[in-house]
Amino acid sequence: MTATVAELLVRHIESLPDMPAADFDGVEDLVESLREPVPERGDAFDDLVRRVGEAATRGFNTAGPGYLAYIPGGGLWSAAVADFLAAALNRFVGVWNAAPALVQMEWQAIRWLADAFGYPPTSSGIFTSGGSMSNFSGIVSARRALLGEDTAGGTLYVSEQAHVSVLKAAVLAGFPRANVRALTPDSRLRMDPDALREAVRADRDAGLRPFLVVASAGTTNTGAVDPIAPIADLAAEEGLWLHVDAAYGGFFRLTERGRAAFAGIERADSITLDPHKAMFLPYGTGCLLVREGRRLREAHDVHEAEYLQDLASDELTPNFTDLSPELSRDFRGLRVWLPLKLHGLAAFREALDEKLDLARVLYEGIRDAPGIVVPWEPELTVVAFRLEPDGASAAEAEEATRHLLERINASRRVFLSSTTIGGRMILRACVVSHRTHRDRIYEAVDIVRRAAGELASTC
Ligand SMILES: *Cc1c(COP(=O)(O)O)cnc(C)c1O
Repeated sequence: MTATVAELLVRHIESLPDMPAADFDGVEDLVESLREPVPERGDAFDDLVRRVGEAATRGFNTAGPGYLAYIPGGGLWSAAVADFLAAALNRFVGVWNAAPALVQMEWQAIRWLADAFGYPPTSSGIFTSGGSMSNFSGIVSARRALLGEDTAGGTLYVSEQAHVSVLKAAVLAGFPRANVRALTPDSRLRMDPDALREAVRADRDAGLRPFLVVASAGTTNTGAVDPIAPIADLAAEEGLWLHVDAAYGGFFRLTERGRAAFAGIERADSITLDPHKAMFLPYGTGCLLVREGRRLREAHDVHEAEYLQDLASDELTPNFTDLSPELSRDFRGLRVWLPLKLHGLAAFREALDEKLDLARVLYEGIRDAPGIVVPWEPELTVVAFRLEPDGASAAEAEEATRHLLERINASRRVFLSSTTIGGRMILRACVVSHRTHRDRIYEAVDIVRRAAGELASTC
C-alpha cells in the first residue's frame, strides 16, 4: 500500500514544476465521476489511489512553484511524513498524561517559536488549524483578560487593511460588528497610530470600553507592516491588549530584514502565526503565542470536566485542551517539530531570505514595464501592481488591469490573484513557497512585461 502511495507522490511532486499553475480542464467531468454511492464491498486500493492523484491535478496548483496567488505555502515533504507518522501512531495529545513525551515534542516546538519572537519562558501558545482560529483565540484571550465576563461596550481597533478573519473572530467572540473600528491607513497602507489614539479616546469619552488593537505584521493585500513599536507604546498607555496578526509575514522575523521590520513585536500580548504559509508546512497548521501564558489558559480553561479529573496539569506539563477550544485533535505539533529538527532553523531563515530577494527581483523587473504602476514598494514578499496605459481613463485602466490578470494566468506558468484597494483593482504576486526560485520569478517578469506591452499598445 505505502509503496503505491510513495510512487504516486514522488511522481506528483516531481511533476509540480511542469504542471499548470492552475488547471480546470475537464474538471466538471471529474467532479461528476465522483458523485457515487458508497460501495458495499471495497474497491482495489491502487485504483483508488490513482483516482486521488488525478483529482489532485485540478484546481489551483498551490504546491507548485508558479502559484503566487493569495498566500502560497508549498507543503514540505518532511511535514507530510510527520503527518503520516502522527496519524498512524494515533496517540492522544489533548492532555499531557495521555502521551507525555509526544506532548513535550509539540510543546517544545511551541517554545522554539516563542523564543524566535523574543517571548519569555512564562509565555504560552497553541498550534491551531490556521490563522483564523489563532486570531479567534487571541481575541478571546484579550476579552477575558481585559473585559472579564461582561463584554458590553468592548471596542477593538484594526486597520482597514486587516485580514477579514479578525472581524470574523470578533463577531464570533460576541462583539457587534459596529464595535470593530477599521482605521484608515497611511499612504503606505500601514496603521496610523495617531488615528488609533483619536479613535480610542473618542470611544472612551463616549463611555465605551476600548480593549484591543490588532496590528498586522504583513497584510495579506500588500504585505504592509503596521508600526508595531509605536502601537505597542500606545497600547501600554491606553491599557489595550496588542495582538499582532503575523499569519502571513511572521516567520520573516527569522531574517534580519524581518527582524527590523517587526521591531517591537516581542511586546505584543499575543501573536498569530501561520506555519502553513511562510514556514512552508501543509494546510492546517496555525499558531497562537501569548506573552503572559496564563492569559491563554484563563480564557480557555473552564475547570469543569469531572471525567478529565485524573489529568491535572501545570505550566510545565500543559494540557492543550486547556489552551484551546479543542479537546481531541490530530498531533499537529509533529508537523512542526520534525521539519525543524530535520532541516534546522537556518534552512528556514535562508529560504525566507531568498523569498525577500525574489520579491525585489519581481518588483524591479516589472516596475518600468509599459503602463505598469507599482504603487507601493514591497515591504515583505507581496508585489502589488496594476495597469494604467498612457491616457487611459480610470474605467479603462480598471479594464486593462482585469485583462492583464487574465493574460498572466492564461500563461499557466504563474497564477496571481487580485484585490481592491482604494476602489481600484490591484494584482498581487506573493512569493512564499519553498518551491518558488529565481527561474520562475524571471519567467513571471517576462510574462507580466509581455502581457502589459500587448495590452498597453492595444489600448
Ligand atoms: C491567511 C491569513 C489569515 C487567516 O489564516 P488562515 O490560516 O487562512 O485561517 C489571517 N491573517 C492574515 C494576515 C493572513 O494572511
